[in-house]
Amino acid sequence: MTTSDDAAPATHSPWKGGWHHTARRLESPNHGPRPVAASAVDLIVVHSISLPPGEYGTGAVQQLFTNTLDWDAHPYYQGIRGLQVSSHFFIDRAGVAWQFVDCDLRAWHAGQSFYRGRAQCNDDSIGIELEGLEGLGFEAAQYQTLAWLCRDIAQRYPIGHVAGHEHIAPGRKQDPGPGFDWADLQNALGWPLQSFPLVTHPTALPLR
Ligand SMILES: [Zn+2]
Repeated sequence: MTTSDDAAPATHSPWKGGWHHTARRLESPNHGPRPVAASAVDLIVVHSISLPPGEYGTGAVQQLFTNTLDWDAHPYYQGIRGLQVSSHFFIDRAGVAWQFVDCDLRAWHAGQSFYRGRAQCNDDSIGIELEGLEGLGFEAAQYQTLAWLCRDIAQRYPIGHVAGHEHIAPGRKQDPGPGFDWADLQNALGWPLQSFPLVTHPTALPLR
């Protein structure tokens, strides 16, 4: 019930528990509880992935995250056979968001990592995979989805930082890579510059 005529109707939270209403839900078994002693979830980690690398819309990323990928379907998969990973979200090239793990739980996206003075970033972060290939660009629809998703995540969790996998596991990981436009995301969100990694990529690289 509203208290005045011009009050906006009660807006629905985009969340049901740690699941986002708008994302396509496809549950991954690759998750666990966040450690009881973990700090608050204050970090969003941006990744890129495509399977096979550079091929889009194959459904293979969704299969990987749900342990249903046919390892014999492509030679590349031999090198990742048995890998059990997940991310909270995956944003495909059309900008459609998929969710695999409840954000209140710990997804397996970061691996050995260190950021804002804390190790094991899976414990207290939310992982978002963008369908893409390190070094190449991303679609406008993906930036749009990423921005509203980050905003909605920040409604539920005290997000203070957004970083790439390459920033939390430097030397070991390179995603999302120089094709990702951090300034675009920062502009879209309007969050303080210090919430984002210092970007050292040469600006001459094509961003899209
Ligand atoms: Zn990654």
